[in-house]
Amino acid sequence: MMNVDSVRRDFPMLLRRQPFVYLDSAATSFKPQQVIDGMTRYYREYSANVHRGIYHISEYATQVYEEVRSTVARFIGAKRPEEIIFTGGTTASVNLVAYAWGSRAVGRGDEIAATIMEHHSNFVPWQQVAAEKGAVLKLINVDASGELKINDVHKSITRKTKLLAITATSNVLGTIVPIKEIVAITKKINPRCLVLVDAAQAVPHMPVSVADWDADFVAFSAHKMLGPTGVGVLWGKLEILERLAPFQFGGEMIAEVAVGKTTFKEVPYKFEAGTPHIAGVIGLGAAVDYLSRLGMENVRSHERRLTGYALDRLSDIPGVTVYGPKRSVDRGGVISFSMNGIHAHDVAQILDGRGICVRAGNHCAMPLHTHLGLSATTRASFSVYTTKEDIDALVEGLKEVRRILL
Ligand code: PMP
Repeated sequence: MMNVDSVRRDFPMLLRRQPFVYLDSAATSFKPQQVIDGMTRYYREYSANVHRGIYHISEYATQVYEEVRSTVARFIGAKRPEEIIFTGGTTASVNLVAYAWGSRAVGRGDEIAATIMEHHSNFVPWQQVAAEKGAVLKLINVDASGELKINDVHKSITRKTKLLAITATSNVLGTIVPIKEIVAITKKINPRCLVLVDAAQAVPHMPVSVADWDADFVAFSAHKMLGPTGVGVLWGKLEILERLAPFQFGGEMIAEVAVGKTTFKEVPYKFEAGTPHIAGVIGLGAAVDYLSRLGMENVRSHERRLTGYALDRLSDIPGVTVYGPKRSVDRGGVISFSMNGIHAHDVAQILDGRGICVRAGNHCAMPLHTHLGLSATTRASFSVYTTKEDIDALVEGLKEVRRILL
């Protein structure tokens, strides 16, 4: 069990501004003091570049930076730290694959598969690769309850499919996708098809093992898992990363440069051109340590309990429609809903007047909203510091919305 009161004391954003109900952790989470301290310590005490200095603070910065690679590898069940590439976030990780692999490996007549519920960052890069290369983008639908139909996966993967881009947890519907099963089906139909998993809403909220999933690439962001903005991870199977040529060139990623020819460093360094976000990586390490101390099973149970409670309470409000799976076991801590006859922006604005932060709009998933026949939804999302009282405040706020607008 997690002690939420003691967790909340670690988050300065929650200490300063009462009453304050933050229900937008799927957009970005708050950061505990331990993460802020880790980054501040770097800037105050050993603020040197990594992988270059022969002097002690640079060597120390390099050691701490590289330790985070091992920490992250352990956290997501990766076999080796070299499989962890530090990027700018999920979007940058997906684009790295789209450029380093997609723009070279995909050709005319090939197919790329994705689900209708992808976030734009795991949709638009593949749409662009397909358009540039003359490939076909095939979409896997979700049913009325927001779940992927395994049969549709069967239909969408063919011998021509080069890649399946798939989210592990929908940032709109909350759907937890059975990645292991889908990877197995995909590889059975076409062993050469690569699978890229967008784990931006999975890694912060539940135990994840990339070895168990057996996908080829997994992307996620630090800022949604209690870490800083501007940093994230691309995990890839070592043998695949080794075969890929880099796509960003410059300092730090080279082995030797002559006027006529350049050779590159090994994985992961050949994908980390230029000075990285050192403080960000250190903050990510502190965030992973924090989550590991809580225990990801505990984080998942806490958020699942809240989700179940919120689904129950929201179902009591007339005119509220919740999207996505009905049972909390099938979903992460993300609940999108609409209110009969009321625009999502009006809902969010009235809630804001009561100190409640929710997200309103299409949540960077326009194809899904179009598929559901909606222009916008309101979304409440949870993290380790969310309480039942936060959900009670949301429910009272929504009743107030009805009183004002209906
Ligand atoms: N995928 C999903 C499922 C997300 O929820 C988000 C963030 N909303 C992203 C990708 C993009 O992450 P980032 O903006 O950190 O690159």
